[in-house]
Amino acid sequence: MLDEVAGHHDPFAEVNETVSRACEIVGLPDDVRQIFCSTYREISVQIPLRRGDGSITVLRGYRVQHNGARGPYKGGIRYHPEASISEVRAMASLMTWKCAIVNLPYGGAKGGVMVDPKTLNESELEQLTRRFTLAISYVLGVNRDIPAPDVNTNAQIMAWIMDAYGSRYGHQPGIVTGKPVELGGSLGREAATGRGVVNVVAEAAHDLGIKLEGARVAIQGFGNVGYNAARLIRELGCNVVGISDASGGVLNPKGLDIDSLQAWTAEHGGVAGFTGGETGTNADLLACDCDILIPAALSNAITEENVGDVKARMVVEAANHPLSSEADDALVDMGVTVVPDILANAGGVTVSYLEWVQNIQQYRWTEDHVNRELASVMKRAWGEVYAYSQDHKLPLRDAAMCLSVARVARAAKLRGYI
Ligand code: GLU
Repeated sequence: MLDEVAGHHDPFAEVNETVSRACEIVGLPDDVRQIFCSTYREISVQIPLRRGDGSITVLRGYRVQHNGARGPYKGGIRYHPEASISEVRAMASLMTWKCAIVNLPYGGAKGGVMVDPKTLNESELEQLTRRFTLAISYVLGVNRDIPAPDVNTNAQIMAWIMDAYGSRYGHQPGIVTGKPVELGGSLGREAATGRGVVNVVAEAAHDLGIKLEGARVAIQGFGNVGYNAARLIRELGCNVVGISDASGGVLNPKGLDIDSLQAWTAEHGGVAGFTGGETGTNADLLACDCDILIPAALSNAITEENVGDVKARMVVEAANHPLSSEADDALVDMGVTVVPDILANAGGVTVSYLEWVQNIQQYRWTEDHVNRELASVMKRAWGEVYAYSQDHKLPLRDAAMCLSVARVARAAKLRGYI
């Protein structure tokens, strides 16, 4: 339904354009391309939610498993009114390629419930999570499909997923990642996506000769990923000169105080009104004078309408699919380096994998150990993608996708199904 409302914007078709191009470049036959441009299994469930006033709201939820050649399906669950089936398919496909690019033994999946969680109270959110979990539980499993946090979901929601699943099938902490540390979550998981983004920025800047000391960074989104990226990128000597979220934007060419902004946001529900900078809009943020722009919110943040305003030399996709295809092409034409989502934001699923490994071993690593593993995974992945892009004269997105489709095709071939 929402796909129709959104008109021409079909996220799955857009992801498939990149996948198809990569299949062609690496010489995969059309039948394999067709496997990669469709999903393996999709379940769509009804979630009747009893509201505080006694009425029932009927919600729709999905779990889409895209490709399992490399291992169990893996991917987050988002709660968002625009978590349409096409959006969830696109995100599931991106998870396949993301896990392949950082070489995790996983396939790709994604889940979504079409709801604005701000309209729910805590007990409605818990009830929704438990019902959705049980409704999709038939296709989940520690060795089958392992959910995680995504847009508007967090460690508490993962705890309810673990509990609901465990109440039916017996306690298994490895059924979901991104759990609270007290329930078997990994140290370092909360910050992992933002930390991985910063690891990639450090590697990219080194190879591309971008000076990080004093580099100006603008970040769209101040949720888990945007906040942690903002907090950690200062360690590279960068100045965060702008941040926006759904409430508006704040800009300060001298650099924002991230800790105060975080405290402000916790109190006021958004960055708008923060006194440590000038008030601006989301459009001002995307157009501001900066060296590195990090979209860390939702898909389709930069489109053909606003891409011309971008002044950054490097765009690092901390969100999944933040650029429309047109915007992506335009940035490449403008000479802007785009670090693609499947590489830039792979830190989250990488530490999810480390959490799953710790759960299976019933052992806990130190935060430092986790962070070092993460940095080495991100460094290796960046190095491989960058080298491929240099060798084949391709933008980083195409290079990353070529490496990924070749890895997934190889696994499928070895298993004997292509
Ligand atoms: N939702 C995150 C992503 O898009 C993490 C997925 C996971 O940890 O399984 O990469």
